[in-house]
Amino acid sequence: MNSEIEVLRDYIRRHGLRFTPEREAIVKEIFSRHDHFTVEELYLSLRRSRPISRASLYRTIPLLIEAGLISEVFQDSGQTRYEHTYGHEQHCHLRCQSCGEVIEFHEDTLEALGQRVAGEHGYRLNGHRLEVLGCCPACQDKARARED
Ligand SMILES: [Zn+2]
Ligand SMILES: [Zn+2]
Repeated sequence: MNSEIEVLRDYIRRHGLRFTPEREAIVKEIFSRHDHFTVEELYLSLRRSRPISRASLYRTIPLLIEAGLISEVFQDSGQTRYEHTYGHEQHCHLRCQSCGEVIEFHEDTLEALGQRVAGEHGYRLNGHRLEVLGCCPACQDKARARED
């Protein structure tokens, strides 16, 4: 498997773009973290080690999605969260709407469901996305404590 930097280089070459140290730093930062981040959070952590323009970061995100390196995960209070997906097995997310905790899970039945639905409509399957929303045990306890 190619490294994420090779994937970026390859994508940039095929699209006649410029490979810049800034784009390389963005990809390195994204692959060094294992969370679901907003572009603003990424900007703040990148800025600690190098000068970076917010505008060029925002311009780079769609390239990384198209290159298959990252994906949009979900919307949280109006903000889009992303994660690096290249080299990772597809997974879904269970999210607590009170505290924001996120649990990743993988379910084979969803894969089969995706295959079936795509097949029925003559689609070639690329993947699926599922977000399960709820209230985690800790937040349920807190809510119960408030009621007492
Ligand atoms: Zn919670
Ligand atoms: Zn995830």
